[in-house]
Amino acid sequence: MGHDEGGTKRAPSHLLSVEDSVSDIEVPVLIVGGGGAGLTASMLLSDLGIEHLLVSALPGTSTLPKAHVINQRSMEIYRKLGVAGDIYEAGTPPEAMARTAWYAGLNGEDPVYGREIASQEAWGAGYTDPDYIAASPCRMTNLPQLRLEPVLLAHAKRKSPESIRFNHELLSFTQDDDGVSSTVLNKDTGETYTVRSEYLYGCDGGRKVGAEAGIELLGQRNILYTVSVHFTADLSKYLKDPSVLINWMWPAHTGLLTLLVAMGPDSWGPGSQEWVFHENYAFDDNRVADDDALIANMKHALGLPDLEPTVHKISRWTFEALVAERFQEGRVFLLGDAAHRHGPTGGLGLNTAIQDAYNLCWKTAAVLGAQASPALLESYQAERQPVAATNVRRSTENAMNHMAIGEALGVSPANSTADNLASLHRVWSEDPADDDFRAALSATIAAQSMEFREHNIEAGFRYDSAAIVPDGSQEPEPIDDIRIYQPSTRPGSPLPHAWLEDHRGNRSAVQDLGGAGEYILIAGEEGREWVEAAGRIASEQGLALKAFTVGHSSGDYLDPRCAWIRDRGHTATGAILVRPDKFIAFRADKAGDSPEEDLRQAFLSIAGRA
Ligand SMILES: Cc1cc2nc3c(=O)[nH]c(=O)nc-3n(C[C@H](O)[C@H](O)[C@H](O)COP(=O)(O)OP(=O)(O)OC[C@H]3O[C@@H](n4cnc5c(N)ncnc54)[C@H](O)[C@@H]3O)c2cc1C
Repeated sequence: MGHDEGGTKRAPSHLLSVEDSVSDIEVPVLIVGGGGAGLTASMLLSDLGIEHLLVSALPGTSTLPKAHVINQRSMEIYRKLGVAGDIYEAGTPPEAMARTAWYAGLNGEDPVYGREIASQEAWGAGYTDPDYIAASPCRMTNLPQLRLEPVLLAHAKRKSPESIRFNHELLSFTQDDDGVSSTVLNKDTGETYTVRSEYLYGCDGGRKVGAEAGIELLGQRNILYTVSVHFTADLSKYLKDPSVLINWMWPAHTGLLTLLVAMGPDSWGPGSQEWVFHENYAFDDNRVADDDALIANMKHALGLPDLEPTVHKISRWTFEALVAERFQEGRVFLLGDAAHRHGPTGGLGLNTAIQDAYNLCWKTAAVLGAQASPALLESYQAERQPVAATNVRRSTENAMNHMAIGEALGVSPANSTADNLASLHRVWSEDPADDDFRAALSATIAAQSMEFREHNIEAGFRYDSAAIVPDGSQEPEPIDDIRIYQPSTRPGSPLPHAWLEDHRGNRSAVQDLGGAGEYILIAGEEGREWVEAAGRIASEQGLALKAFTVGHSSGDYLDPRCAWIRDRGHTATGAILVRPDKFIAFRADKAGDSPEEDLRQAFLSIAGRA
């Protein structure tokens, strides 16, 4: 066993379960994997004051573009972590990701090539859609994973320089009642060392931890086989719309859906320097083994045989729809792709990973800090597995929905180029006989909003677990459970957004009023009793808590636009309790007889001590 060069940290002796078996490193949490899930977990634990070690098998962050769309809930987490500014700065300007569009191929001899079949608003229309503005202080953004991860890594190192080790691979682990013992290979030196931790986070994309813990991923594998080519080339002559990030193309000569995704990094839209081209292949297509054949096929699909792209990377991946049967096995937790594998349609994979970490880290800190029983950790699976299952299903349905466009267009690889062209010409024909065709097509395109306006999927997911105290209210019937996020304070809901002002006129988003690991008690303007009761319980139980009243014209904070009181879901004497991950844990409509006892019971329930 090699000795760790980074210095040995000694943890409390209760971490050691077997006398005489002293590990090289003892640390409360071992994070395995330095992708989006692992790096986010590292930053969150740092802000919560939890010592941890992150080991990641490769020398650096991802070299593949992969994930790029980052949704509002994820950006809220990065805002809390102080990372959002850097992500926005490197990311796509909002006006360059306001729409998505479908085209009749990119280039070719027939005049339909390059014509826009349709376009629609996407991802909150560059933060101009009022629903997105009302939902969050953060706009969505877009930053390819190969540029996002270095930003996350820099901040993770800034927060905890000693905690991050790339080129260190988890080889194996065992767990007992008191902790997890892991063996890690330092690939720089070839030496192994052992880590003893109270908890292990498997953020390894499903490569090791889940299988080793005996957890199976259930669902569909090998749904589609896709090749992605990341390249630099000037395509500005062929694309026109500066607001479009993803170009969906149906070229007549292949009859296959192909995608061009702008990658920036300095300009976006048609002037983007880099691109990713995606195309599906049959699982038994021999061309996929041959890079030259794939590049030739890309040029063919784009109708640009003379294009001379600088190819950075070709990646081959399968579209999967998998959810782990369990997210926890004893002291081992699965996060991100280790727990759920999605296709990219809808951009939910990385976002779900980030939000997994936000759910688990404060709970881990509460248990390690003896403010909660380990039972609180069981709510991780109860809360995140249903969200992941929904997101996996949405990703697959979004992908299948694109195929409906090919059908509505009458474009297919089974047709001749002439037949596909004839179908495409109908999109712009003046012949009234084509009216039904166009109506069916525009209905099919409009339905793509299930992917590009999946606002309730992104922002409205709710939790139901022992760490949420039901208030007896019925779950409201959703208007559209994919597209329309309806803010609510029903326990289990994400904290609605509102801009509040203090008495000096300083503006804060309501979610900003609690720091890392802090609960927030928000009472109505006549709910002072709740504030006082919460303060007493917090000091009695050693909890970090901010408590205040909010009203339109009176209270500790004012709600000038009535945005808060519109959604708060209780009277002026009522209150809500918000967990550190900004989910509502408890709601009281009005003062009641014993606010202190009600709140005490709520805290005990959340902490798994009821
Ligand atoms: C083409 C494409 C487009 C996508 N677009 C989007 C999008 O727009 N939005 C979105 O949210 N998602 C998107 N996704 C999905 C997204 O890429 C993944 O969901 C995301 O990368 C998952 O992050 P993760 O940290 O869980 O896993 P990964 O990114 O896979 O990271 C796993 C890490 O674990 C390390 N590791 C593995 N084994 C070990 C070991 N034994 N020891 C130590 N370290 C180990 C790896 O080296 C790696 O660093 C897309 C995916 C693809 C393929």
